[in-house]
Amino acid sequence: MHEATLYEKLPGSRVRCNTCQWRCSISPDKFGVCRMYQNRNGVLYNMNYAQASSVAADPIEKKPLFHFFPDTLAFSLGGWGCNFHCQDCQNWQISCPETGEPWRDSQKVQPRAAIELAKRHQCRGIAWTYNEPSIWFEYTLDSAKLAKENNLYTVYVTNGYLTPEALDTIGPYLDAWRVDIKGFSDSFYRELAKVTHWRGILEVAKRAKAKWNMHVEVITNIIPTMNDDEQQLEGIANWIRDELGELTPWHVTRFYPHHHMRHLPPTPISTLEHAYDIGQKAGLKFIYAGNVPGHKSENTTCYSCGKLIVERFGYQTKVVGLEDSRCKFCGAELNFRTLGSKGGHHD
Ligand code: SF4
Repeated sequence: MHEATLYEKLPGSRVRCNTCQWRCSISPDKFGVCRMYQNRNGVLYNMNYAQASSVAADPIEKKPLFHFFPDTLAFSLGGWGCNFHCQDCQNWQISCPETGEPWRDSQKVQPRAAIELAKRHQCRGIAWTYNEPSIWFEYTLDSAKLAKENNLYTVYVTNGYLTPEALDTIGPYLDAWRVDIKGFSDSFYRELAKVTHWRGILEVAKRAKAKWNMHVEVITNIIPTMNDDEQQLEGIANWIRDELGELTPWHVTRFYPHHHMRHLPPTPISTLEHAYDIGQKAGLKFIYAGNVPGHKSENTTCYSCGKLIVERFGYQTKVVGLEDSRCKFCGAELNFRTLGSKGGHHD
């Protein structure tokens, strides 16, 4: 249990949590939408500080982040709970736990221990992933500060629903923002995740890049009949181009039926390829079809000279044509963060 960083006190011992865009107003003894922040006597507490549900040394490509320290390991930590309750959630056991304190039998990994474990497992950085990282915001903030002191990169794998002030609090210590843009219509976000004001996600993603110089990659899980229409896919691709830039990687991933969406079929490969074409037509230079091992779009090729830059198969990665963030053959800027690239770290 840890006092929350971003909240305000309201009359009658209520509090308002300002960690994510729900901005829950919480009565004494009650929880916010995520069920991980609780009002106790007018003080807001995060209940799952350091309570890890999952810990692994993962290839950074698994996040997926394809243009960020390729072929390195990220020490990956997941907590409990989520502020979205998506019907297609792949990690619902940890995101929507059925019991009040699901971490009872799990491990505590304090920030300093996470840093030590990352180093011991030869990881180049730390990623908060598997569930929504803002749901243990204080933990990720303390850990990110320590990670930067220890020269490790830091990654949020997020639904992007943090408030601008939460982003600005952790911004100085965060290097990469791997954000879901799940669809591009009010009705889709409402149906999938019961979220009505989803456009704040776009503003915060823009801010992560513009204000905090984070490396941003976008992912869209394409669900048959829900977000596979031309209008939404074009909306996402055009928005990425206009607001994040044409060099921003866009991952379009294959949906597999699970959780509350077992009635839908897996995404046809032709749909992913159609999304790929839409991205190309919008002018995006790096579109990757995900959850389809061996697909030709797994590799990175230079948009300017056509040479192979990074070869990938599943999570095996071979960097063959990169010099800092540029193509080593023709010099084109490819928007990679690597040890040598200019955007690699901010203090
Ligand atoms: S973090 Fe949880 S309690 Fe805070 S605003 Fe978001 S959903 Fe509500």
